[in-house]
Amino acid sequence: MVILAIGGVGKPVRTLGPGEDDTWVTVEQFERVLDTVAGREDVGLTFDDGNSSDVEIALPRLVERDLTAEFFPLAGRIGQRGFVDADGLRELADAGMSIGSHGWEHRDWRRLDGRHARRELETAPKLLADLSGAQVRSYAPPFGAYDRRVLSRLRHSGATRVYTTEGGAASRDGLLRPRIKVRHDVDQQWIDGVLGDREGLYRRAGRFVTRVAKLAHF
Ligand SMILES: [Zn+2]
Repeated sequence: MVILAIGGVGKPVRTLGPGEDDTWVTVEQFERVLDTVAGREDVGLTFDDGNSSDVEIALPRLVERDLTAEFFPLAGRIGQRGFVDADGLRELADAGMSIGSHGWEHRDWRRLDGRHARRELETAPKLLADLSGAQVRSYAPPFGAYDRRVLSRLRHSGATRVYTTEGGAASRDGLLRPRIKVRHDVDQQWIDGVLGDREGLYRRAGRFVTRVAKLAHF
């Protein structure tokens, strides 16, 4: 299957970090993606960073199309301007969406000292679980950055899915789940190329990923 990674939708209501605007799409672009994905079980949807557009824009449009998605907020930004708050998190969970962890403050998990490792990999998922009322078993390391040590820590804390941004096809049962980033310039041609038809989906996904393999904010 192919798993898409989405950042923010609509007009950002906060100042974006460097390179972050690459991960924002318009409402129209977003709806095009959803309309293509609706009814497809071979496509997964994920949202990173916990932007307030997750609840305000994405949620109603997902529900409308009978779609579910996994959300990966930053625990340390919950309730800050432009980010999902505690009520929003609960709203996502109550609507049948899954909540995973993107950590506390968007750090590279390969480079954490003891104190930060606890906060990113233990405190963050615990807070997200407390707020959403569901266990956190999925993780999306910021920047898609991980190594063996990160994976072993996550596995140790009960992770069943670790989402990366390497692109390509994902198997339904593996721990590592590669994702394809949806970028600010997404258009119907891109959508058709990545999701157009089920046959050749894997091959196509791989090709598109090599074309867009530059470092992004995720
Ligand atoms: Zn991110």
